[in-house]
Amino acid sequence: MFQQEEYDVIVVGAGHAGCEAAAAAANMGSKVLLVTMNMNTIAQMSCNPAMGGVAKGQIVREVDALGGQSGIITDKTMIQFRMLNRSKGPAMWSPRAQSDRMRFAEEWRMTLEQTLNVDFWQEAVTGIVVENDTVVGVKTQLGIEFRGKSVVLTNGTFLNGLIHIGEKQFGGGRAAESRSTGITEQLKELGFEAGRMKTGTPPRVDGRSLDYSKMEEQSGDAEPSKFSYLDTPTLTKQRPCYITYTNPEVHEILKEGFEKSPMFQGRIKGLGPRYCPSVEDKINRFADKDRHQIFVEPEGWSTVEVYVNGFSSSLPEDVQYRALRKIAGFENAKMFRPGYAIEYDFFPPTQLHLTLETKRIQNLYFAGQINGTTGYEEAACQGLMAGINAHNKVHGKEPFILKRSEAYIGVLIDDLVNKGTDEPYRMFTSRAEHRILLRQDNADLRLTPLGHSLGLASDERMERVREKEKQTAEVVKLLKNFAIEPAEINGWLEEMGSATIHERTRAVNLLRRPNVELPDLALVLPGLTLALGQYRPDALEQAVILVKYEAYLEKEHQQAARVQELENFTIKGRLDYKAMPALSHEAREKLLKIQPETLGQASRISGVSPADVSVLMVYLGR
Ligand code: FAD
Repeated sequence: MFQQEEYDVIVVGAGHAGCEAAAAAANMGSKVLLVTMNMNTIAQMSCNPAMGGVAKGQIVREVDALGGQSGIITDKTMIQFRMLNRSKGPAMWSPRAQSDRMRFAEEWRMTLEQTLNVDFWQEAVTGIVVENDTVVGVKTQLGIEFRGKSVVLTNGTFLNGLIHIGEKQFGGGRAAESRSTGITEQLKELGFEAGRMKTGTPPRVDGRSLDYSKMEEQSGDAEPSKFSYLDTPTLTKQRPCYITYTNPEVHEILKEGFEKSPMFQGRIKGLGPRYCPSVEDKINRFADKDRHQIFVEPEGWSTVEVYVNGFSSSLPEDVQYRALRKIAGFENAKMFRPGYAIEYDFFPPTQLHLTLETKRIQNLYFAGQINGTTGYEEAACQGLMAGINAHNKVHGKEPFILKRSEAYIGVLIDDLVNKGTDEPYRMFTSRAEHRILLRQDNADLRLTPLGHSLGLASDERMERVREKEKQTAEVVKLLKNFAIEPAEINGWLEEMGSATIHERTRAVNLLRRPNVELPDLALVLPGLTLALGQYRPDALEQAVILVKYEAYLEKEHQQAARVQELENFTIKGRLDYKAMPALSHEAREKLLKIQPETLGQASRISGVSPADVSVLMVYLGR
């Protein structure tokens, strides 16, 4: 054994999944070793320097509510904040931050260095050590063996990574970083199934060479919000992004490179993210469109490096360069590095339990891109869950699983384990059937009590939640009781084009009208302003959502409770699928493979139809 005693949790890889896993397990009291190839790239943002966005922003809020770190780090290092979808209902509001790439990585490293119980080792892991179908450690390139009671693999895009730029291809895990070999080969020998996926990134350019006067400015929110429910800073100044467009001339130049395209010529075998296509893919698939939007995003407060969002490409570098210079504002652009595509190994996540522990090897967990997902947020939340579960398992505690009606994190893991994925999986609001309940404004109410009972979310977080709950209830009561006379409000209602009232009306009834918002009402009604003055903004916001959407929320809670009945029905080990001739062939195969824990989980396995679920219910005597 080298250097250290036996660890509780060994985390391999310090990307977004690995960092959250290490922090969570350590903060819960595990002795953690974080082994990563390069300590200078801890929490590197491989692609765009941004956190959050539609559905992803909700995930960051959930990670924060449970006691994870990504939200705090984003708040400390962002350069712009926008709440997307503000014009839609609150279930769609999605926080998004433009980050300072270097500061983000630096802040994560400082956070981990200041976390008690985390040791570091910089080297490539080449394999795991297995005894009696249980992982007991990892082996490194130098031949060092570290012993651990559990191991979390978070290798990202590094497993047998192959980078493509035009006809050139070379091994690498990310630009200028080595790939990881040995792990896939060993896991396959142990019986794991592996697949291949692909992703890509755009060129980076020198901001000093761009003409921003030819682009549209995209500013952050006038009153920026933030991610963490703790008392983290909000932005007092922001950096703008810019919007420009490709044009037919750009497309013609890009087409010249098609015959050298690794994608079109079939050299790339792995499937890429459909919703995040390369620019060549866009002009090929949408040939009738003569322009595509490009977001020009600064990479930080002080760097001149700029990220060209929307121009992901694996065409030859000279083609990328020539095409780029035909974009308005990019006529004199200097490139820092070309875009590229990367192919890498992943492990179909149907090989995992809902705790992210592998079914084949005990105490071995997978989290992040290794499970076929894409995105920092998707990786971070899996890391958090794997870290929590690895800690719980080695300390003899209960598994921690989130329901689909409790969190996007629950939806993500449930989808991965039950449905698997053929293409890089990213979160969308449409994947969450209970999305009305899973809002960015209430992740703390949903999850902090759970995080607190795990020993991860601090007392301070829990105290804030209790106070928010208390104040919200008081505000709801106040709004239900606050009476308004017609004379006080009708003038304003007329101005607003809203129907006037003919008798004393409670504030709550007016608030339920779609065009009436609390700040407007408070402006007209000094008494209401006075009564609400003592309450926190997040409690006011919560109360308004609860009263405005009361009927929808009630219906959704009932729906979730009905679904929960199936979730509560444990079937693991109780049913012999082979002895059920009425099951379809596909359902039997999938049930045998996935071994669902509950009837609810069985019902969501792709290939298990409602008729198959009825068969299971008959066997269960229901
Ligand atoms: P990573 O962030 O990749 O981190 C893996 C970590 O593991 C690294 O620190 C690495 O050094 C370490 N490591 C790997 N193997 C070993 C080993 N054997 N021993 C020790 N350490 C090891 N996401 C999107 O949402 N949209 C996109 O368009 C997009 N494009 C991308 C383009 C490119 C070129 C790349 C590389 C990634 C892209 N991503 C994109 C994905 C995004 O970067 C990942 O989803 C996210 O970073 C995954 O986090 P992770 O923690 O799983 O892995």
